[in-house]
Amino acid sequence: MYDIIIIGGGPAGMTAAIYTARAGLKTLVLEKESIGGQISTTTLVENYPGFIKISGGELSMNMYDQVLKSGAEFEFDTVTKIVDGKTKKVITQDKEYESKAIIVATGAKYRQLGTDSEKKYIGKGIHFCTSCDAAFYKDKTVAVIGGGNSAVASALTLADLANKVYLIQLLENLTCEYDSVKKIKTKKNIEIICNASVEEFLGNENLEAIKIKVKNDTRIIEVDGVFESIGMIPDTKFIVDFIDIDEAEYIVSDDCYTERKGIFVAGDCRTKEVRQLTTATNDGTIAATLAINYVKKCVDF
Ligand SMILES: Cc1cc2nc3c(=O)[nH]c(=O)nc-3n(C[C@H](O)[C@H](O)[C@H](O)COP(=O)(O)OP(=O)(O)OC[C@H]3O[C@@H](n4cnc5c(N)ncnc54)[C@H](O)[C@@H]3O)c2cc1C
Repeated sequence: MYDIIIIGGGPAGMTAAIYTARAGLKTLVLEKESIGGQISTTTLVENYPGFIKISGGELSMNMYDQVLKSGAEFEFDTVTKIVDGKTKKVITQDKEYESKAIIVATGAKYRQLGTDSEKKYIGKGIHFCTSCDAAFYKDKTVAVIGGGNSAVASALTLADLANKVYLIQLLENLTCEYDSVKKIKTKKNIEIICNASVEEFLGNENLEAIKIKVKNDTRIIEVDGVFESIGMIPDTKFIVDFIDIDEAEYIVSDDCYTERKGIFVAGDCRTKEVRQLTTATNDGTIAATLAINYVKKCVDF
């Protein structure tokens, strides 16, 4: 039996593992896809303290080394179910594990447009996170895809850095709050294009332009970068019937506790305002500390 099983080997899960293993708890991390989660897919990180510039892949592998050196185990397996009880069962595709406590750190994924040409330019001009990557576009031309609150917030942030920002909205109007509409109309370098869909991303090695369809017309817009801002999908499908989730399927928690004793939550999969590396690792620390205290207090497993 494990003291703690951590579901998800992203920054939140790996931080939690470093803490729980260093506290002497028998720890297992279960990861379904890739070491490091979302950050492993990006070429450059410039906002994680201690590293002026580091690739997401290298940062992920550094965390992974630290997890193993702390004494935690790390296995590739997909968790499909949790069964609650005095001890908890973690069911995966192939196995069943038993643990005294669980930390769910399954993260989220940015919703993508799903066009054929999109994959080629992710990280080479296509971005999803404005607070992570806007700084690369000082004095450049960018487009934001989306028309809700987060897309408009992205456009406003980018407008303070870039020369020109196109805001490409599929619907007839923006769907953000009225205050944001007023703000965006004061920005001379933002051009809002409604009733528009992205047909293709164009370029060579890096993204150079987007082809959009506006009503019955086609338009090519030259851009240095695109920020897709059409929402996120938390990776919580496997426990939506087991744990309290909000309407967008984020696990409801203000403080890394869940309503289930001995089950904690960390990182992008929980309800919160800011989803970044530093907030994920922050959660990992908190969830681990709560789980350590829980396991140490409950001696009668
Ligand atoms: C392209 C890109 C660039 C980014 N750049 C930056 C940046 O520069 N700075 C910054 O601060 N933030 C950045 N972010 C955001 C940052 O990566 C996330 O906020 C952070 O990774 C969240 O960590 P997490 O551990 O909560 O979740 P994730 O990183 O999403 O990790 C969760 C892990 O859980 C695994 N998992 C999910 N379900 C299961 C299951 N059922 N069983 C087993 N494993 C499971 C997933 O495979 C994944 O590896 C970026 C994100 C992306 C996508």
